[in-house]
Amino acid sequence: MSGDERHLELPFTGPATFFKAPHVPALELHRTGGRFDVGILGVPFDFAVGFRPGARFAPAAVRAASGRYAVPPSGYYDFETDSYSLGGARLVDAGDVDVAQLETAESHDRITAAARALRAAVALPLFVGGDHSVSYPLLRAFDEVRRLHVVQLDAHLDYSDSRNATRWANSSPFRRAVEALPELVHVTVVGLRGVRADPEAFAAARSRGHELIAARAVHAAITDVVDRLPKGENVYLSIDVDALDAAELPGTGSPEPEGLSYGQARDLVVATVRRNELVGVDLMELAPELDPTGRSALLSARLLAETLEAWWRVRAESGA
Ligand code: MN
Ligand code: MN
Repeated sequence: MSGDERHLELPFTGPATFFKAPHVPALELHRTGGRFDVGILGVPFDFAVGFRPGARFAPAAVRAASGRYAVPPSGYYDFETDSYSLGGARLVDAGDVDVAQLETAESHDRITAAARALRAAVALPLFVGGDHSVSYPLLRAFDEVRRLHVVQLDAHLDYSDSRNATRWANSSPFRRAVEALPELVHVTVVGLRGVRADPEAFAAARSRGHELIAARAVHAAITDVVDRLPKGENVYLSIDVDALDAAELPGTGSPEPEGLSYGQARDLVVATVRRNELVGVDLMELAPELDPTGRSALLSARLLAETLEAWWRVRAESGA
């Protein structure tokens, strides 16, 4: 038996960490003295959902599912281009934020602190929520990034000033972020649809010049949508998994029909990565227990794997 054959890669062997990366808690990363290429932090907070909860279980589910996409030492092999990506990449699982149930401000402070600690130790921080409300405390950790752009894949705008008597729910994170961060200059939302839209939120987003793109536009001509994505900017990519069609990814709290296919979402992610400088990524609103088949968690893990794969290729091409 050769050395390679001793180190097997069965997807279900533990411990279950993101992509089978070593685990170092975010707040202890500075002690390692090392610098990682990618760090992944779980944010198991779903106390701000207006409908079906369950996203608190997403970090654990994505860890389990991502065992299938553990990066081999030589990287992922792409048979279409006969090339590798992510070979030698140093990944770290930064654990979960120790959130405080029903103490929203306290949880937000803990999320921002953990995200700052992760940013200090990795080239690309990746966050797995949680409901979408936590994108606000995560974005606070990027407050010194100049001319920050957000690209948000989502069925919903999440830009309400207030909904159901709260300003901190998963209906409002990007409104709060734009108010709090002077350098957050632009939001592009792709995948919008549904019949529950908040007209005040749309009016506010339009008045700020944000780019609001319906799922229907993606179905009509995705190349036209790609042309409307930012180019040459510092981009924080926020993926609400309900951007995907509910038939393909049912494990989410507020599913909507007529959504993006996995391939459309992947193509939009890859285009966003290729056109811009990616400063951070989050994946939100996966509620794994609403999908007993487990495929929602698998698709989420795979979308993150393809995001990392594209980011690494761009980095390798630019000689970084
Ligand atoms: Mn959302
Ligand atoms: Mn949504």
